Amino acid sequence: MTAIIQFDNSYGRLPELFYARQQPTSVAAPQLIRVNRPLARVLGIDPGWLSSEAGCLMLAGNSVPDGADPLATVYAGHQFGSYNPKLGDGRALLVGEVIARNGERYDLQLKGAGPTPYSRGGDGRAPLGPVLREFIVSEAMYALGIPTTRALAAATSGEPVFRERALPGAVLTRVASSHIRVGTFQFFSGLGKIEPLRQLAEYVIDRHYPASRAAGNPVQALLHAVIRRQAQLIASWQLVGFIHGVMNTDNMLVCGETVDYGPCAFMDAFSADAVFSSIDHGGRYAYKNQPAIAQWNLACLAQSLLPLLHADLEHALELVESALKEFELVFQDAYTRGFGAKLGLEAVRHDDATLFSDFLVLLNREQDDFTLAFRRLGDLAAPESQGKQVGELFEFSSAYRPWLERWRRRCANDLRPALERQQTMHAVNPAFIPRNHLVEEVIRAAIADKELGPFHLLVEVLTNPFSYRSDYSSYAITPRQD
Ligand code: AMP
Ligand code: MG
Repeated sequence: MTAIIQFDNSYGRLPELFYARQQPTSVAAPQLIRVNRPLARVLGIDPGWLSSEAGCLMLAGNSVPDGADPLATVYAGHQFGSYNPKLGDGRALLVGEVIARNGERYDLQLKGAGPTPYSRGGDGRAPLGPVLREFIVSEAMYALGIPTTRALAAATSGEPVFRERALPGAVLTRVASSHIRVGTFQFFSGLGKIEPLRQLAEYVIDRHYPASRAAGNPVQALLHAVIRRQAQLIASWQLVGFIHGVMNTDNMLVCGETVDYGPCAFMDAFSADAVFSSIDHGGRYAYKNQPAIAQWNLACLAQSLLPLLHADLEHALELVESALKEFELVFQDAYTRGFGAKLGLEAVRHDDATLFSDFLVLLNREQDDFTLAFRRLGDLAAPESQGKQVGELFEFSSAYRPWLERWRRRCANDLRPALERQQTMHAVNPAFIPRNHLVEEVIRAAIADKELGPFHLLVEVLTNPFSYRSDYSSYAITPRQD
């Protein structure tokens, strides 16, 4: 059987400065871990074929399908604030672009498929643990309705990967609207060559922001559009307690999808200072810093675009300034509407911001779980409802009594039937998130016991984050309750 994948490789038609053609390096004994069948169908790829031996060979990088044009893309980036003028896909390969059944174009990328010219001494490989983590967390983000790259498949390589110790190797097949990063613009800006920079901007406008083409200044419109999408994305992270961990400019996609699930995590007990990356000593990428860091990254994008924005630098800088201001407006708007929904309010009033922030202060003081507390609040919105409730896992202590009274009074002024309020709250306050202790546990089972059942179960539970089931209560508890 031959693979029938609709490839149309537009990035590979850009000048050679943009990438290095590179075939994947075969692995010893590939074995499929999981194929994301619903996503395969969206992409117009037969899930049965993908799960076959031939599919496995492709997903491990041992064979290249007809129509593919594997390449590693080049980019630059600020890593923890320090600029690196040349990074690039060091352990990832763009196999090709797939035109999905909905007509959308998606990058198909293998992560861990061997070295590339941008590997800088790295092995181009990925250990099993991070591959499983990315699969779990990216698919959970998708189920939560947050723009994200996705996981089409994961396969073990049958080869060890050497880090501090030998670990089993794996390959992840990642799908993204594109993998073009803020750092991609920085690379061309850093070269000081205007033509490739212009080509990249044109390409991104055509692929992601075609409406910008009609604007008087399409590059300015592009900058605004990227900023708006990122502001909305970061607001959605804040509202579910997601901490990316490594918000370097090379880990920020201009299409507005979350990318690079390295040391990321969802917080359990609420803390605005929460940090998850062990190498983030200064807390640069702490939860509370994510909006400001996003804006900082977008300032890097804006700076890269300066020569395209206007021939007069002063004027170009003014355009940048007004574009960056839009970040705060869009972020605040999305965040405000989002917390209003989390509190069950139909229309947010000026003083609701204090109601929300006072709740967060209480959560922090009581060291209570962010996710369960909001879910429980939804339960309380319609006390007479019969639905499955998380009260068996979490209950507000007496410390919350005055706040709960304020919230109830506020709800009484917000015209909406109680059951409807509860439904809307339960549709934005998940019961199931990829908690770090669960992710660690399935990785441990996969490595130490060679047992993948817990991984599959966790992935499945997380596909329905907003429907609580008490038979899955062990997936909803905080680590403190273990
Ligand atoms: P990340 O921290 O995952 O965003 O990666 C930063 C840069 O290091 C990217 O250019 C990666 O391609 C590269 N890189 C990370 N791990 C490896 C590896 N095992 N082999 C080669 N390059 C890598
Ligand atoms: Mg990266």
